[in-house]
Amino acid sequence: MQNFYKRAWAEIHLDRLKHNYEICKSLLSNKTELMAVVKANAYGHGDSVIAPYLQGLGVKYFAVSNLIEAVHIREAGVNSQILILGYVSPEYSQKLIDYDIIQTVTDYNHAEELSASIANSKKLRVHIKLDTGMGRIGLKFKTAMEYVEEIKRITKLENLEVEGIFSHPSVADSDNQADIEYTRMQEKLILEIIDGLINQGISIKHIHYLNSACATYYPDNQSTLARFGIMLYGLHPNHALALPKPLLPVMELKTVVSHIKTISKGDYVSYGRTYVAERDVKVASLTIGYADGYSRLLSSKGEVLINGKKAKLIGRVCMDQVMIDITDIDARIGDTATLFGYDGDECITADDVADIYGTIGYEVICGISKRVPRVIYDGNKQIDILE
Ligand SMILES: *Cc1c(COP(=O)(O)O)cnc(C)c1O
Repeated sequence: MQNFYKRAWAEIHLDRLKHNYEICKSLLSNKTELMAVVKANAYGHGDSVIAPYLQGLGVKYFAVSNLIEAVHIREAGVNSQILILGYVSPEYSQKLIDYDIIQTVTDYNHAEELSASIANSKKLRVHIKLDTGMGRIGLKFKTAMEYVEEIKRITKLENLEVEGIFSHPSVADSDNQADIEYTRMQEKLILEIIDGLINQGISIKHIHYLNSACATYYPDNQSTLARFGIMLYGLHPNHALALPKPLLPVMELKTVVSHIKTISKGDYVSYGRTYVAERDVKVASLTIGYADGYSRLLSSKGEVLINGKKAKLIGRVCMDQVMIDITDIDARIGDTATLFGYDGDECITADDVADIYGTIGYEVICGISKRVPRVIYDGNKQIDILE
C-alpha cells in the first residue's frame, strides 16, 4: 500500500469497471464490438490505468477526443485501435500516422487537406463522421444518396484509408415520444446510407452509431462497434431512466475533517454570510473545495457521507474547504468524508450530486481536477496512485 497525502482523493475501483464492462458487453449482439471511450482522461478516472486495464479484459477498440489523449494512451501501453472522435488539424497528420491513430474526418475539405498533407507512402487511417441530426461535426446532407456520393468521393482520396463511417445520436437517452422518433429517424438514415454503399459496391469495414444510451435503449446488430463511455464508469446516460442491469460507480471522491466547532444561533458560515445558524450547530470543515472540481454550485445544497450518515453542506463552497453540519453525527478530526461513493449502507453517486445542481454525472466526474490524486483499487487492494 503506497502512501498518499490524505487531503482530497478519488478512489478508482477497477473491479467495478470490470463488472460494468461485462454488463455493457452483454447488451451487444455478437456482431458488435465494444469500443471503450476513454476521452477526457477516461472521464476523469485516469486513462493511463483505465485503458490498459480494459485492454487486458479484451477491449480492442478505444476512442479519445484528441491527439494528446491518443498519444497518452498509446504510450501507456494501448497497442490496439485508437480512434480520435474530434477534429485534428492536417498539420498533425504525420504524428497520427507515426502513432498509428485513426482520425475522424469531419467533411470533404478536411479529408482533402489530410490527404494532401501526407508526404510518405503510408496512408492515414480514417473514419468519416456523418451528421445525421446531432448538428455537430460531420457531413450533412438531405438524402442518403448524397451522403453516399460524398463518402465515395472521400474514399477516392489518395492518402487516406477509409476504415469506417459513424454518426452520433443526440437524444437516445430520452424517453420522450418525439425524441424516440428522432432517434429512429437518425438510425433509419444511417441504415439507408449503409444500403446505398452496398448498392454502389463500396465496402467499409466499420459502421457505428451507438453510444451508451443508444446501445442500451435501441439494441441493434448492424452497428459494428458500440462506443461505450459513461456506463463503463458506472453512471447513467440519463439518471431518470432505469438501466437493464445495475452498474457500479467506479469513482469515489473523499476528503477528511480538518476542524470541528460548535457555533451559536446567529453565527455565520463561509463567504457571503449566506448561512446563518438558527440554533447551536456543530460544524465540521473538510479539506476539499471547488479547486478540486467540487462545484461551488453545491453551496448549502450538497450532501456528504460521514461515519455512515448523511451531512448537509452549509454555506458557500470555498476554493479548498467546505463546511458541513454534523450536529447529530459523531465525528472527529481526521475522519473520512465521502463526497460521492459508499459509506456503510449509504451511497451518494456522482449522478445524485449532478441532480443537486442541475448538471449530469458526466460533468461531475470529468470535472474532478488534477490536484486530486487517483488512488487505484482492485477489490480492497490498493494497486497504484496517479498524482
Ligand atoms: C463521448 C462520446 C461517446 C460516449 O458517450 P457515452 O454517452 O459516454 O457512452 C460516444 N461517441 C462519441 C462520438 C462521443 O463523443
